[in-house]
Amino acid sequence: MNLTPEHQAQINAQKKECIYCKINRGEIPGKKIFEDEKSLAILDIYPAKKGHTVFLFKEHYPLPAFIPPDQFKHFFGLIPGLSKALKSALVTTGINMFLAAGGPAGQQFPHMGVHLFPREPDDGFFNLMFKLNTSTDEEITKMLQTNLPIMMQNHFGRNPAEWHTGKGNIPPFLTPIYEKCTVIYEDEKAICVAPKKGAVAGHLQIYSKQEEKYIENLSPEDASHLNFVASFAATAVFEGMQAHGTNVVMVSGESDDNPEGKLILHVLPRMQDDVLKHMFWQPAQPKDDLDAMAKKIKDKTWKLSYKEKKSNIPSYVKPPVMKIGDKKEVKPSTPEDEIKAAIARMQQ
Ligand SMILES: [Zn+2]
Repeated sequence: MNLTPEHQAQINAQKKECIYCKINRGEIPGKKIFEDEKSLAILDIYPAKKGHTVFLFKEHYPLPAFIPPDQFKHFFGLIPGLSKALKSALVTTGINMFLAAGGPAGQQFPHMGVHLFPREPDDGFFNLMFKLNTSTDEEITKMLQTNLPIMMQNHFGRNPAEWHTGKGNIPPFLTPIYEKCTVIYEDEKAICVAPKKGAVAGHLQIYSKQEEKYIENLSPEDASHLNFVASFAATAVFEGMQAHGTNVVMVSGESDDNPEGKLILHVLPRMQDDVLKHMFWQPAQPKDDLDAMAKKIKDKTWKLSYKEKKSNIPSYVKPPVMKIGDKKEVKPSTPEDEIKAAIARMQQ
């Protein structure tokens, strides 16, 4: 990553004061439940609900654009294993992941990570629920249909995947999605769609073609890929709609707000004081003994490690039909450009 000395100095100053860096350096105690050389998971000491976990990059990345692809792959590759451990330690049916980029989206600290919420029916946690009653203009949809495939093509150019040749096929469980939504991007493993009605204009949904419900059934590589698509979709709506921030909200497994237990990554462009501002939570004193809970979860994470496995994607693949739109519309094309754009946004 080529940061100017000035930007590096700015980040070093942030690191000194950053609460997550302090936990990582051992200057503040944390209720650790998992740790490896690149990542750290701790229980939130003011949990929004039972088992509320903060999963962090050890390195201080102020925004998603700063995360190098290998770090991104490793981090999101651990989500299935971590979800499985949380679900089994706390005996829950589902899991939510919440990622915020930018203050208006609920990013509290300039240090990237995600919140994980184990979920179960009757848990009374509706903070990540939204009403679907806004449609997205055709012009925005067209812009996203042009830009996201190009961004993904650039991504595959930088990080070649031998399984990728085109769009792949439609698994039967996604047939209703194809009928109800507008396809923005698709490959063999993932599809990104614009629903007819979203929570806000520009709301996109990412579905796995491999797994209908449970994130823990995906391989590390496949979970990373799903999150790569979500992350580029977030950049596409952010840049294309001049949003003030973005959220990625993953739902997986059964809960009151996801009774069918579907696995969906919602990508939400955020504006200052928009209708989704309730999506955040108030810090609360824990009702459970966090040390005892951390111990219970650690009993399930001690074997967890990031292992890259070759995926066994089915070999039915259609000829490549990737759409190539007008390249002039895509602003960020290299990691350096994306970082420069992110730095410019931080300074605004
Ligand atoms: Zn930090």
